[in-house]
Amino acid sequence: MTLSWLEPVQLHLGQLAQNGQLHHALLFTGPNGVGKHLVAAHLAKQLLCVQPFTDAACGHCKSCLLVDAGHHPDLLQLPAEGSIGVDAVRELSQFMQGTPQQGGARVVVLPQAHKMTEAAANALLKTLEEPGADSFLLLQTAYEQQLLPTILSRCQRWLIPPVTDQAAQQWLVQQTHKPVPPYLLAYCAGAPLRALQLLESGQSEDIDQVLQLLPRFIQGNYPLAQMVKTLEAQAETTAILYWFVRQLLPTMDENRNCQQLFQRLSQWCRDEQQILGQNRSLALTALLLDVQRLLR
Ligand SMILES: [Zn+2]
Repeated sequence: MTLSWLEPVQLHLGQLAQNGQLHHALLFTGPNGVGKHLVAAHLAKQLLCVQPFTDAACGHCKSCLLVDAGHHPDLLQLPAEGSIGVDAVRELSQFMQGTPQQGGARVVVLPQAHKMTEAAANALLKTLEEPGADSFLLLQTAYEQQLLPTILSRCQRWLIPPVTDQAAQQWLVQQTHKPVPPYLLAYCAGAPLRALQLLESGQSEDIDQVLQLLPRFIQGNYPLAQMVKTLEAQAETTAILYWFVRQLLPTMDENRNCQQLFQRLSQWCRDEQQILGQNRSLALTALLLDVQRLLR
C-alpha cells in the first residue's frame, strides 16, 4: 500500500540510509493511525535489503523475501500489545550487539515505546549509547511525553505529521467507496488509517449519529435517557464528548463555563479509569446533565 502522505518522510529516511547517515535510534511520533508502523516497516526492509533503491527496498532479493515471510534473522519485531519489560529489552540489546546473519544491518522494531516499564527504559539506555555496528532501533509512539527524558534525548525524533487535507479525504473515499463525513479526519487527529478503520467498521456512522443527536439533547429536544443509552453503546464515549464540546468552543463567550466543562469532562475521564464497577449509566446521566446546563 503506497500512502502519499508518508512518501516524503520515507524518501528522506531512505536517502539518509543510503548515504550511511541514518541515526541508530529513531523515534517515530504522531497520532495513532497515521502510519508510523508502516514507515518503520518500510525503513526496516530497506535497511536489510541487499540492493535497495533510494526510497524503498528492491522487493525481490533474499533479504526482502525473508522480511516478507516474517523470518528475517536480522529483524527483531517486538509485540505491539502489552507492556515491555526488562527481559524484552535485554533480548533486544543482545540482538543489536550480535553479528548480522545475512551480512547487512540488524534492525529492531519497537512499537508502543511508551509501554516500556521504567526498568525496561533504563535497561535500554546502555544500548542507545553503545549500539552495535550497523544496528538500528526503530521506536514508535503516539505518547512521547510518557517516555523518559533520557530515552528521548538519545533518539532522533521523526514526527509523522497529521493529515487532514483533500488528498487524504479523497484516499478514504477511494478505499471505502463510502461517503466520508467532512470532520472525520480531524476527529481522528489527522490519522487516515484510524479514519479508515472507523469507516470500515461502521463506527463512523454511529459517531455521526451521536454528533447529530447531542445538539438536540442540549436544546431539550431529545430525551436524556435515550441520549445516555446511545452514548453508552459507543466504543468512544469520551472521545465523542470531547470532540463535541471542542467544536462548540468558538461559539461560547463565557470563559468560566468553558473551564467548568473541561474540568467536568476530565473528572469523567478520571472516574472511568479509576472507579472500578462504576455505575456507568448513572455517571453518564450526571455528566450529560452538567454538560447540558453549562452549554445552554
Ligand atoms: Zn531487496
